[in-house]
Order: sequence, then C-alpha cells, then structure tokens
Amino acid sequence: MRFCVVGAGFSGAVIARVLAEAGHQIVVVDERAHVAGNCHSARDASTGVMTHVYGPHIFHTSDERVWAFIQRFGEMRPYAHQVRAVSGGAVYSLPVNLLTINQFFRTIMGPNEARAFIAAKAQAIADPTNFEEQALAMIGPELYAAFFRGYTRKQWGMEPTELPSSILKRLPLRFNYDDRYFSHTHQAIRDQGYTAIVVAMLDAPGIELRLKTSHESLNESFAHTFYSGPIDRYFHFAHGRLGYRTLDFDVFRTTGDYQGAAVMNYCDEEVPFTRITEHKHFAPWESHEMADTICYREYSRACGPGDIPYYPIRQAHEEHMLGKYVKRARATPGVSFLGRLGSYRYLDMDVTIGEALDAAQETLLRLAENRPVPAFFVEPLQEAHALTARAA
Ligand code: FAD
Ligand code: UDP
Repeated sequence: MRFCVVGAGFSGAVIARVLAEAGHQIVVVDERAHVAGNCHSARDASTGVMTHVYGPHIFHTSDERVWAFIQRFGEMRPYAHQVRAVSGGAVYSLPVNLLTINQFFRTIMGPNEARAFIAAKAQAIADPTNFEEQALAMIGPELYAAFFRGYTRKQWGMEPTELPSSILKRLPLRFNYDDRYFSHTHQAIRDQGYTAIVVAMLDAPGIELRLKTSHESLNESFAHTFYSGPIDRYFHFAHGRLGYRTLDFDVFRTTGDYQGAAVMNYCDEEVPFTRITEHKHFAPWESHEMADTICYREYSRACGPGDIPYYPIRQAHEEHMLGKYVKRARATPGVSFLGRLGSYRYLDMDVTIGEALDAAQETLLRLAENRPVPAFFVEPLQEAHALTARAA
C-alpha cells in the first residue's frame, strides 16, 4: 500500500522504516530542510563541533527493544550526562544528590543522615497536585527555592502551583554521589549525530523522502496518513491553538573550554536565561579542548503562531481543547496522529521510538485483519493530571 508520513522526526522515520520493511511504499514529507525533527544535529561550520541544533539531546533508555532498534542505524557511544547548576552565587551538582545536599547545607552527612535530614524538611503533603507541592513534599522549601522555583517560572512562564507534579517527577533525588542526570540502563549519543540515525532509517527501498514539503502542499491520495505534526494545525486550529513553550538560542562562539561541562543551569530568577549548553562536551571522544567552542544560551517564552513548538504546556483549558481535537480526529478516517506534536505530550526520544514501533506493528496487524487503522495508538488524554481535574 502507499502511505504518507508527515514529519521526518523519530516518530515519522521509525514508522516509515517498519512499514517499508513490510513491503509498503511510503512518502515521507517534512517542511524543514533536514530530517530528525527537533533531534537534528549538525556540525558547526566554524568550530567543527557537532551541535544539537534545537537544544541538548541525550539518548537514554531502559527499553531493550528500543535500544536494539536504534543501534541498527549506527554506533551509539556511551555518554553519562551531568548537569551543573548555578544558584545564589555558587555552583552545585544536579539532580539533587548527596553532593548537592552537603554543599548547599554545608554539611558532611552520609546517605542515611541526609535521607532523614531531607525527610524532616519535606512537607507532609499526602497527594501533591502541582509542581510546587511535589517539590515541597520531596525536598523541602530551601532546595526548592534555590534550584526549582526560579528556573521553573522562567522555563514555563507561570507559577509552579499551576504546573503538574509530573514535570518534577522526571528528575531523580539521590542520597548518594551518583550525579548522572538520567537513571536509565543505556545512556548514549550517536557520534555522527542523531540526524545520521534518521538518514539511515529513511534509507530503505520503498521510502521516498521529500524535504521542504508541507503536508498542506500535498495533492495526492494515500491509503493512510501518519501525521506527526501538531494536531491543532491539522484541523486548521478550528478549536484554538494548543499552548507550547518555545525556545530562543543566543549562539556564541569562543576559544577553549567555556564552562567545563555540557550543560550549566541558571536557577536564579534574575538571570533571564535558563541554561547554557556547550556542545563539544557531548562528544568527549573528539578532541576540541583548546580549539574553538560553540555555546547556546537558552531562553524560554510563550510559543507564537510562527514559532517552533517545543514543550506542550497542557494546562486545564488546553486539556479541554485537546479533547475536542481528539474527538475530531477519531471522526476523521484515513489519518493517525502520533509523536510529541500529534499527541501533544512531552515524549523523550526512547518513548517516541517505542510508541512508533508499536504503532507500526499495530498498523500491520490491522491491515492483515482488514480492520481500520486507529486515529491514535496511545490515548493522548491519559495524562490528564490531578491539577487539571481539580481546575476543571
Ligand atoms: P519532532 O522531532 O518534532 O518531529 C516532527 C517533524 O514534523 C518536524 O521535523 C516538523 O518539521 C514536521 N512537521 C510538523 N508539521 C508538519 C507539516 N504540516 N508538514 C510537514 N512537516 C511537518 N528527548 C530525549 O530522549 N533526551 C533529551 O535529552 C531530550 N532533550 C530535549 C530537549 C528539548 C529542548 C526538547 C524540546 C525536547 C527534548 N527531547 C529529549 C525530546 C525529543 O525532542 C522528542 O522526543 C522528539 O523530538 C520527538 O520526535 P517526533 O518525531 O515526535 O517530533
Ligand atoms: N527544573 C528546575 N531547575 C533545574 C532543572 C529543572 O526547576 O535546574 C525543573 C523545570 O521545571 C523543568 C523540570 O524541572 O522543566 C524537569 O527538568 P528536565 O531536566 O526534565 O527539564 P526539561 O526537559 O523540561 O528541559
């Protein structure tokens, strides 16, 4: 059969590849001039550094199926991501671990003592319903104020009380000196960049890639369309625009090692940016130490009509709007929505790949049984959080 896949990010590339391997013809369109979506990486012409063009991306997973799949498309080099955080004139280690706690409180506690110490500071909130409550219940008021309140207000443009607790739950709290940002079994970066992975995925008989081509500009019919663009855009924003945060990067180049780490977070609210990424530290296997370096100073703001959508906000009114789009999608035959924009959810790369693998398998099964392909492979409203329920 002849299918259309909209978007050449991981969602689109994975589903295209699996369907092509099953013998189907796939036209993949992306309006950008490159593949890999927001995971796109490219060598900076002036410094030679591999740059994560849409912000820092580290692959991490405990899903063996996803790990096996991604390794088919190039060598992944082990990379343990560490983040430093500036707060109140000092540099700390994040996520909050024993070093952070001892440095911040000027103590020399061991794991058990620190656990009891933080438990005494943590507020007794039985069922945290928002980011702030989650933080106060997890780490207490001092660490929350130093590392999370200001950064979160900058990142999300709203009060932490208005945000779901799930955002904070992405980060671990450790009572040892393990300062890796992620806890997954496999943590790696493709040495030739993520774009090379997607190029390899799309390099298969049966796949035709059309860059600089929007879905709206197509005038062909397909057996089915897999759409990984924004769901509200597909329906011409008929029910309004779903809210996103977008990012601005102030790119600067200098010589040598600018900050000694890949990512430094700036937690104080007075500092207008959220973090600085120095891309050459994502490739410790390359030798750039004394050479030129490229850094991104990152600012977050509300996403306007012409901006790139990065983080879905998913507050109560957006959840409500999403419900209308979901209903409409279910009543529209011939198209399935997937990926971070198609389902309006924050998805890490490994989850994106896992969901696209499932979607492809489900599609093949349904085709074999002569059943229609569903509008969604994952329920997009399932993450309706307690905050939303309360606000609604
Ligand atoms: P996308 O990558 O957004 O791809 C969608 C594509 O569709 C785009 O290329 C777009 O141009 C195209 N498109 C949209 N509409 C149309 C249309 N109408 N016509 C034609 N083309 C269209 N994940 C991790 O695992 N680790 C990380 O460290 C990490 N860091 C991140 C940092 C930031 C700042 C952000 C925002 C996300 C991060 N992620 C990270 C998540 C990661 O970016 C996503 O998992 C991934 O991009 C999702 O892939 P996707 O294919 O669903 O969407
Ligand atoms: N966060 C924070 N301070 C930090 C790092 C993270 O307040 O130094 C908060 C912020 O709200 C962020 C959330 O924790 O959105 C989750 O962190 P993560 O590193 O997953 O951030 P993101 O993927 O949103 O950039």
